[in-house]
Amino acid sequence: MSNLLLRELSLVGHRCPIITADHRDYERYRKVWNGVADRRPAAIARPQSVDDVRKVVHAAAASHALLAVRGGGHSLPGFSTCDGGLVLDLSDLTAIAIDRDTHTIEVGGGALLGDLDRATVPEGFVVPAGVISHTGVAGLTLGGGMGWASRRYGLTIDSLLGAEIVTAAGDIVWASATSEPELFWGIRGGGGNFGVVTRFRFRMHPLGSIVVGQWSYPAANMRQALQALRDRAHGQPRDFTLNFTATATGLSVTAVWSGDAALTHSVLSPFGALTMAA
Ligand SMILES: Cc1cc2nc3c(=O)[nH]c(=O)nc-3n(C[C@H](O)[C@H](O)[C@H](O)COP(=O)(O)OP(=O)(O)OC[C@H]3O[C@@H](n4cnc5c(N)ncnc54)[C@H](O)[C@@H]3O)c2cc1C
Repeated sequence: MSNLLLRELSLVGHRCPIITADHRDYERYRKVWNGVADRRPAAIARPQSVDDVRKVVHAAAASHALLAVRGGGHSLPGFSTCDGGLVLDLSDLTAIAIDRDTHTIEVGGGALLGDLDRATVPEGFVVPAGVISHTGVAGLTLGGGMGWASRRYGLTIDSLLGAEIVTAAGDIVWASATSEPELFWGIRGGGGNFGVVTRFRFRMHPLGSIVVGQWSYPAANMRQALQALRDRAHGQPRDFTLNFTATATGLSVTAVWSGDAALTHSVLSPFGALTMAA
């Protein structure tokens, strides 16, 4: 199978690097975020264009090779790599274009959340997404996506307006509410495998200044702090987002406020005093 795959890949064209086990960068490119997913694909293709993606999908189909699509590589079960098959690594498809008039942004299928935030936030906008900058926009969006701005603006897929997709048949289609609506429904939370998304279009939302508070509580006060956290979180406005991590050593609380600056202190400070009476 591997010889047939390599022969098909040789037809993709010289602009799309193909990395096999004898390549000096093979170890670097085969790795994904979760080290437990320690797989050895027969080849890693790194498309530079949508047409490259189409040709690589064709090569996988023609050789009956297993195809794993990689955006940011953060899949916990390791879905973006495989043993013996082909990895389609989209990390060079990171082009981003903002349309300030329509408050929309187009993002390449290999872009990371950090790329998205660096483009939107200086313009005073946000697309609600995740909390770690090196997560892929693609995998996160296809799974729903949530983060610091989600209480205010919803899941990432609530802001998705359309996507360019290379299907398993090698067609390039645009999926939106009015074009291929069933496919559009599927990619909003259905994960990968509906096709390779090469470009997303999102609605951007206004974002002013934000204030972040972070506090730690020792394990001995965990019960009291968690009870107060539950009570004080109840009924908070949508401009407020809370996150906590409880471990054997203690409780860590992070709160983000993106609402009226005049209310910052009154909204955030109770979460820095969870072991004191309200
Ligand atoms: C450290 C960390 C922090 C996280 N934080 C958050 C968070 O704050 N909010 C949240 O909602 N989720 C979060 N997640 C979960 C994350 O959204 C999912 O693991 C997501 O699938 C990762 O996307 P990726 O592109 O980085 O991963 P990948 O491993 O590249 O892909 C994940 C899945 O999507 C498919 N896929 C990737 N790109 C494409 C594409 N262009 N077209 C079609 N299919 C594709 C892959 O084949 C695979 O099945 C986090 C995960 C980690 C590891």
